[in-house]
Amino acid sequence: MRPTNERGVLVIGASQAGVQLASSLREQGLDDPITVVGAEAHPPYQRPPLSKALLQGDLPTGSLVFRSPQFYAEQRIDLVLDQRITSVERRPDGSGVAVSSSGRRFPFTRLALTVGARPRRLDVPGADLAGVRYLRDTDDALALREDLTRADRVVIVGGGFIGLEVAASVRRLGKDVTVVLADDRLMGRAVGEPISEFFRRAHERRGCTLHFSVGVAAVTDDGNGRATGLDLTDGTHVPADLVVVGIGAVPRTELAEHLGLRVDNGIVVDEHGLTSDGTTVAAGDCVNCPTPVAGASPRMRFESVNTAVEQAKVAAATLAGKRLPYRTPPWFWSDQFDLKLQVAGLSQGCDQQVVRGDPGTERFSVLYYRGDTLAAAECVNSPLDFMAVRAALAAGSTVPAALAADPGTPLRTSTRPSSTGAPAPRTHGQDVLA
Ligand SMILES: Cc1cc2nc3c(=O)[nH]c(=O)nc-3n(C[C@H](O)[C@H](O)[C@H](O)COP(=O)(O)OP(=O)(O)OC[C@H]3O[C@@H](n4cnc5c(N)ncnc54)[C@H](O)[C@@H]3O)c2cc1C
Repeated sequence: MRPTNERGVLVIGASQAGVQLASSLREQGLDDPITVVGAEAHPPYQRPPLSKALLQGDLPTGSLVFRSPQFYAEQRIDLVLDQRITSVERRPDGSGVAVSSSGRRFPFTRLALTVGARPRRLDVPGADLAGVRYLRDTDDALALREDLTRADRVVIVGGGFIGLEVAASVRRLGKDVTVVLADDRLMGRAVGEPISEFFRRAHERRGCTLHFSVGVAAVTDDGNGRATGLDLTDGTHVPADLVVVGIGAVPRTELAEHLGLRVDNGIVVDEHGLTSDGTTVAAGDCVNCPTPVAGASPRMRFESVNTAVEQAKVAAATLAGKRLPYRTPPWFWSDQFDLKLQVAGLSQGCDQQVVRGDPGTERFSVLYYRGDTLAAAECVNSPLDFMAVRAALAAGSTVPAALAADPGTPLRTSTRPSSTGAPAPRTHGQDVLA
């Protein structure tokens, strides 16, 4: 392994985007030294199982790692863990030195920021009590899993993906589960009404209690610094042994701000992953990028594995001196109980929707159209529909709504060239999945 005082590309953040960026740099033929430095002590790992399999069972954390030590050695990627970068000194040519909180120095000729996001904190009296948990990384998940062994009643604040996945995992462990959310529907920022409504019924059928359109006034305590439940803004008290907060994530922009980069709900990048200084790249949950669909002008911040991977590939190409625009229509998934939700494209703002199949069977899809053009699909336990729509969106094809409405007709064989070439989403400057 090369010493970390050698210059080359420095990637700050050792997770989905950072590891992809480093390995894509090698695929792009870059021969320079590459250092990936991460604040966590664990080797880079997948986050999705943290709210699912890891909470529900004894899954060893080692089984979540992306790559073996041999991979990093073979690819000549110097992986440095447990070092949080707190400052960066940079020269006008883009080179410089990053310094960690322990004083370790990392010189670089080019810099990549893949620093992700942190959980949004609950800002009410009692929010710092013991028994109030967040879920972003392995240490959070292990602490939560440990707490769950002693908890019977769990209240979850937030009805987005993380909150609902935790609700499903905890309910599967046989606990009493209550979900409290400010919105009037589940996953309201990421999916359409039919899917929100379906998941409301599905969670209720499986024994979760849901409180919509209500805020948290305070976390109550037992007098010894431990949470005993929530006081809600409508006067209700929800007793609980454990409170899990899943109210979205905030992009980590402090290093970018320190570097004087443009920041606006994330590190602002162009379609090549380039930040406002023209030399530093950024990718993943920390960035605000142009919406990756032809014809769309709005910028968005996505939080999904696929987006982190695709943005990292684009940013790596930029550092390798190539120009690869980020144009992959986004997709993501969520597992709640035995329900797999898979979403391709962006449904917000579409003017037509087709429900394909019967939600009562817990196996159906909703396809969204802008005019005649397919823009997105949200699929429950329907992987073939998801794959067909994902492929159609990537190819700029559509599926006529009349054909899509018949669940007996496979979508794969129903795709047609689209009149516009590719769908354009109608969302403007908002977070997806946050
Ligand atoms: C519980 C959970 C479940 C999820 N489930 C799904 C799912 O089912 N499907 C899906 O598509 N997506 C899911 N996601 C989202 C997905 O995991 C993220 O979009 C993805 O991890 C983003 O990757 P990233 O590399 O941009 O950021 P992150 O994974 O957040 O990684 C950023 C890394 O940078 C490090 N870092 C930050 N600042 C510094 C610094 N100053 N110095 C050094 N290191 C630093 C952090 O410690 C972290 O390790 C889930 C996320 C969570 C938390």
